[in-house]
Amino acid sequence: MQRKTKILATLGPATDAPEMIGTLIGKGVDIFRLNMSHGSHDWVRTITGNIREQSKVADRDVAILIDLQGPSIRTGDVDESLKLKKGDILEFRNASLDASEDLSVTTNYDGLSNDVSVGDVMLVDNGEIHFKVSRKEDGRLICETLTAGTMGSRRHINLPGIKVNLPPLTKKDHCDIELAAELKVDFIAISFVRDARHVRNLRSELAEKDCSARIVAKIEDQEAVKKLSEIITESDAVMVARGDLGIEVHIEELPVVQRTILREAARIGRKVIVATHMLESMIENPVPTRAEVTDVANAVFEQADAVMVSGETSIGKYPIKCIEVLDRIARRIEQEPSAGFCKNIELQTEKQQTVKSAIVLANSLTDSTIIIFTARGVLANYAAHQRPEKAHIYAFTPDHIVARALRMNRAVSPFQMDFLDNPEGSIRKAIDFLKDRGEIENGDPVVILSDVLNKDFDTEAILLRKA
Ligand code: PEP
Repeated sequence: MQRKTKILATLGPATDAPEMIGTLIGKGVDIFRLNMSHGSHDWVRTITGNIREQSKVADRDVAILIDLQGPSIRTGDVDESLKLKKGDILEFRNASLDASEDLSVTTNYDGLSNDVSVGDVMLVDNGEIHFKVSRKEDGRLICETLTAGTMGSRRHINLPGIKVNLPPLTKKDHCDIELAAELKVDFIAISFVRDARHVRNLRSELAEKDCSARIVAKIEDQEAVKKLSEIITESDAVMVARGDLGIEVHIEELPVVQRTILREAARIGRKVIVATHMLESMIENPVPTRAEVTDVANAVFEQADAVMVSGETSIGKYPIKCIEVLDRIARRIEQEPSAGFCKNIELQTEKQQTVKSAIVLANSLTDSTIIIFTARGVLANYAAHQRPEKAHIYAFTPDHIVARALRMNRAVSPFQMDFLDNPEGSIRKAIDFLKDRGEIENGDPVVILSDVLNKDFDTEAILLRKA
């Protein structure tokens, strides 16, 4: 049985050796994430080459996602970590200004004192140290420390519920996009999306660079949650980026927001990745906590397209075990009834209605499989979004790029295959291929869906065959 939920693993020092990448592919990683907050261009070039090489060795063409750092607000360098006690006064100032308080740090965002008001709360270093703004001057915020902590250099600042006027992409992001286009990666994740325009602008930039990477919008703050439908509509996929989201919204809201994102993406028909802290304790330990197992199971129950691990595989001690755990939980929970959010999907085109008919047919047959012949991946996307009850989807496309883009879709196993001139020949070739791999057996019912096999007329076809 194929696993339906896809696995996204972040690469880092613990896993970037070619043999390790090969092992992770063998264990079932579908997409590798390269985090541009940490990786240099040279590293990304080398790793991309290694992933492609190891994909060939394993005969499994996995996809690559480049995760842009985005416009994060950070404190500047400090000579020595600041040990802050409750009640201490700390100044956050523009980099061009001199300190006016004993305890003072610079920030990388000169608009901070314009966007923040007296009384606002700022969270620093993963939400661990809290400050309240007690006074502001041009380019300076004078803050009271609410929770004690030690603050090192370049700490991330979160401003829950505060609308910031940062540009959607930084100079670094534009350079990283250039690299992503050069390396023809499959997905680009845009961090801190606050408006659908941000996604549209990235799409234009990619088009100018002739880059076909699909866009993943990371939902990480309250602004994005407010504009969820528009952002999801403009994107190819969204990521529930729970690291920042868990700081930007009240923590008890996080499961509600996750579920809202999954419901809304199911309604609109877009992919969803659930990310961050899925197996956090496995950075240090060989087994997950019960709560982590339940969290992963919940994402599978909600029929997320993919679950993602970050530090667990980039710096953790047990990266291979993490993938095994994700694989086992996903396979088990996929056998149980799901949340069924896909029932609310809005079908807008005749093509989508045709796909629905194929899925109704597949659902009505025991042990059925769906085979899709697709040029651009559109039919396969539609089928995956409609979440067949049991049938797995095998998507055949002549285009390697389309095949890799389909790696993220729940329940889709994509393969590159050149189509033959006669449609029947292509169907036979695909069925034989799946039989040889042990994916289907003689006599299994196969629902075939295609809009490309017959070159003489441009129409969708549903066929029912026995393998
Ligand atoms: C997150 O915040 O959950 C996330 C995936 O983003 P990053 O790790 O890049 O901050």
